[in-house]
Formats: sequence, structure tokens, C-alpha cells
Amino acid sequence: MNKPPLTYQQQLRYSRHIMLPSLDIAGQERLWQSHAVILGVGGLGCAVAQYLTASGVGELTLIDNDIIESHNLQRQILFNEQHVNQSKCEAAKQQLNQLNSEITINALTHALSDDSHHEELICRADIIIDCSDNLETRNLLNELCFKYKKPLVSGSAIRMEGHVACFTMQPDSHCYGCISQFISGQSQSCSESGVLSPVVGLIGSVQATEAVKILAGLPCGLSEHLLLLDALSMSFNKFKITKSPQCSVCS
Ligand SMILES: [Zn+2]
Repeated sequence: MNKPPLTYQQQLRYSRHIMLPSLDIAGQERLWQSHAVILGVGGLGCAVAQYLTASGVGELTLIDNDIIESHNLQRQILFNEQHVNQSKCEAAKQQLNQLNSEITINALTHALSDDSHHEELICRADIIIDCSDNLETRNLLNELCFKYKKPLVSGSAIRMEGHVACFTMQPDSHCYGCISQFISGQSQSCSESGVLSPVVGLIGSVQATEAVKILAGLPCGLSEHLLLLDALSMSFNKFKITKSPQCSVCS
């Protein structure tokens, strides 16, 4: 992106970021010039989108073809009762614009596919955050991110569990395909298994933290690890992950 540098008023707005020595004004400018794609505006996507919007990421593209149903309100905290039957993308854009009117928000109300429009979008993005809820979409997004060497922040939450991993898509690094077979329960959905409301907020907040760090030029804490959350015992565990020789995408 090529936005004008942050004004004095904007520097005041983001001053609690700028006073972090590792982020500083240079990091905030990087966020302001960045474009993040959020795939899925459900429980995870609502949390991620709010933090990226508040953080001053200059452009967001939201992708989701769902409409809001009453059972979404239990955990999708961008939406309220007036939004039922509206497009998730459009309602989220409206809500996020109230939080930060200075950033550009694009709402794409159709599912991800491998058509040229989506390839062009991934190619133009600085980071992709996977907040989708099905394996087919996750695998397609992983293939696109690997093809265009775009960092991917992947997250999932179900029942009282969740995980986050980041993929830098550098030549020697692993991809989502390397670990997907080891993440149990990911093929199930919240509609089949349920999910505790704040668990999506916890996982979405971790995804947003890693995304903001990557965009601001800080080291990513999960580029070589998978973070697992067990909310019942409230324990986080980090496991080292490596490239799989059997991976059909990156090996
Ligand atoms: Zn792989």
C-alpha cells in the first residue's frame, strides 16, 4: 500500500504502540502501510478483525459468504441482535468502520476459491489470517499462501480447545499441510461439537498478536511451533513443528 505517513493526530492515537521500544514509530508505520486478509468472520475472525482495526492496520479484506444467525451471537462479538440475517462481512465492515474510520475495509461476500480474483488478492496481501471453519478451505488457503510466499496465521477453536500456528512460507519452512494430519478434531465443526464462547476470543487474540507482530517487523513466536490451548485446565503448550517429507504442498 502507499498511504501518506501517519499524521500527528494518528501518532497520538497509536501512542501506546509507538512507546513500545520494539515497535516504535517505524513499526506503527509498517502496520499503517499493511494489508491483511481475514478469511472467515466467525468467532475467531470477529476477534482478529477488531484488534487489527484498533491497531491501525491500514487495509483489511474480510472474506465470508455466511449470514448472521442467532446462534452466532453466543461468540461472534462484532454482531448484535439487529444484525441477524445480514451478511457477516457487511455487518463486520460497518462495525469496524465505527471503531476506526481511517482504515480501508473490503468485504468479499463469497467463499474462497482458486480463481484469479482470489489469487490476485492473496498476491497483494502482506499477511493472511485463517479464521475459517473447514478443512477444505484451510488447505486451499495454505496452497495459495505457499504459492505466493505469504505469511499465514492459522487458528482453530472447538469445544474447550484451540490451536494457533504461523507459517512464514520461506523455502525451508513447513506449511499447514505438514501438521494438518496431527491436529485432532479439526475436521469437526462448532455446529457438531460446540465451542465455549471466550475460547474463540482467546485463540483469535493470539492470532491477532502474532499478525500484528509480523506486520510490524517483530519476531513471530509461533513460526516454528504449534500452540495448543486446553481451556478446561487452562493450559497452553507449545510443540516444535518441522517440515513433513510427506507434505503434498511444500515437500
Ligand atoms: Zn507442508
